Amino acid sequence: MQQDTIEADFVIVGAGSAGCVMAARLSEDPGTKVVLLEAGGDDFNRWIHIPLGFGKTFADPSVNWCYETEPDPGAAGRKIFWPRGKVLGGSSSINGMVYIRGQHEDFDLWRQMGCSGWSAQDVLPYFKRAEHQVRGADEWHATGGPLVVSDVEEGHPLCEAFIAACNELGYPTNRDFNGAQQDGVGYHQTTTRKGRRCSTAVGYLKPATKRQNLRVVTNALASRLVLQGKRVVGVEYRQDNLSFIARARREVILCGGAINSPQLLMLSGIGPQQHLTDIGVPVLHHLPGVGQGLQDHYSAPLKLKCRQPITVNDIMLSKLSMLRTGLDYYLRRRGAMAAISAQVALFARTRPELATPDIKMSISIFSADRPQDGLHKFSGFTIIVYQLRPESRGEIRLKSPRPEDAPAMIANYLATKTDRRTITDGLFLGRRLLATRHMQPYVAEEFLPGPAVQTADQMLQHARQCGGTVFHPTSTCKMGIDPMAVVDPELRVFGIGGLRVVDASVMPTVISGNTNAGTIMIAEKAADLVRQELRMAA
Ligand SMILES: Cc1cc2nc3c(=O)[nH]c(=O)nc-3n(C[C@H](O)[C@H](O)[C@H](O)COP(=O)(O)OP(=O)(O)OC[C@H]3O[C@@H](n4cnc5c(N)ncnc54)[C@H](O)[C@@H]3O)c2cc1C
Repeated sequence: MQQDTIEADFVIVGAGSAGCVMAARLSEDPGTKVVLLEAGGDDFNRWIHIPLGFGKTFADPSVNWCYETEPDPGAAGRKIFWPRGKVLGGSSSINGMVYIRGQHEDFDLWRQMGCSGWSAQDVLPYFKRAEHQVRGADEWHATGGPLVVSDVEEGHPLCEAFIAACNELGYPTNRDFNGAQQDGVGYHQTTTRKGRRCSTAVGYLKPATKRQNLRVVTNALASRLVLQGKRVVGVEYRQDNLSFIARARREVILCGGAINSPQLLMLSGIGPQQHLTDIGVPVLHHLPGVGQGLQDHYSAPLKLKCRQPITVNDIMLSKLSMLRTGLDYYLRRRGAMAAISAQVALFARTRPELATPDIKMSISIFSADRPQDGLHKFSGFTIIVYQLRPESRGEIRLKSPRPEDAPAMIANYLATKTDRRTITDGLFLGRRLLATRHMQPYVAEEFLPGPAVQTADQMLQHARQCGGTVFHPTSTCKMGIDPMAVVDPELRVFGIGGLRVVDASVMPTVISGNTNAGTIMIAEKAADLVRQELRMAA
């Protein structure tokens, strides 16, 4: 049944990393009315805000879409679990809180691909605009922005040993992966503020919600775009089994993320003609690139038993340690509960001829079969490796014309020779690090994949059987100027008026690192593009 209508200048779909930025920035002008639709609810769940709560929200359907890929030949035919935030803050409310921007060369490549205005030099001001850097401002960083970027406050013996091991093999320490260059090993910076998560809901949206011109509608699933000819004029959404329309006087801005933005476009008849016809969705506009070009970071682990009882597993094994850790957190906002899950990383090259690092390796001071199953009941830690710029491409396709049905996520992992070689080389490098005199005092045993795995083929099989995602799907509504591009460099959907896409789906290529900061940067720049257009129209 169709219910009443709300109206605004801008209707934003999805209150995730990008959507909260867009809503906060566009509503800064009291004369601009903004409606933000979010399929999930408020971010009341207290585990969202405690860094150690990552494991609690990882597979909690009350805040998470809990997607799964289609069975993937590259991952030994397994379905890979794809968590995505379904709550205010979106994936920034459930992510690992690692603050990484990517390499300067990533953005220069975007520019090279025809995306004017997106070179490293062009995007730096937007990374800075978003940022409140606790170390203070410098050439690369700024203070005063909504996204608080903090340091890991307490070192850990395993992290220190990993850094020393990398140094021993010739990798330099890097204090700032987001500065002049990414190479080297060091502590991550985190999107946390005083030991609590700084999602975009916390940093951007909450301060803006008192504005009269911003309305946030939660538990509202956008089901279809409303078009007049080739212009979008609103969004149909469902709430409590009722159907509503949010009308947009100026624009609809899709911020549903790399899975849901292409899904909503296709549900609305905008996408590859043949596919829409096959599914039974009337075609309004043939746009072949929608859902195509999917990239993700596939990772594989080395899991170790630790010789010393210093891991988070050990804390969880003792009621007294848990109590002490809880108290430490509630009194001082420190200790294991304030720690992110991957504190230290190495950015390295698997081949000397490469211009920039092609793998990221991180160390987590815990081990588990799957985060949602709890930690191992013994002392353990994990090394994770992933390739920064995979060549393999997958796609998002509709499985049905019903908005409630998840689309098909076809990841197509490890489909090229380079991708397969890179992940195995990375895992062997991990073993070399574990064999150094700095790491050896901590390594009791490699229990996954274990010493029986020695050849490159065996290591590849291990990667296929035991790997997973580090949760960075992108590029399914890519920005560009070629026939497969979905949005232009101003993020306007080709061939359709009144419609932009602003989220991780527009990345022309996945960036060399974690994708939250890059998505926030995209939204900061998009807000500027929209405001410029408004000024020109005035
Ligand atoms: C478990 C996990 C760990 C991660 N760790 C890190 C990390 O440590 N560092 C890092 O940089 N990146 C990390 N990432 C990746 C990063 O968080 C994402 O790339 C980023 O948040 C994507 O932002 P987005 O705006 O594109 O999408 P999202 O933040 O996912 O936002 C999309 C929003 O749209 C809503 N939505 C979708 N469809 C609809 C609809 N039809 N109607 C209404 N609302 C809708 C969703 O509910 C969601 O709130 C992680 C991601 C996950 C899931």
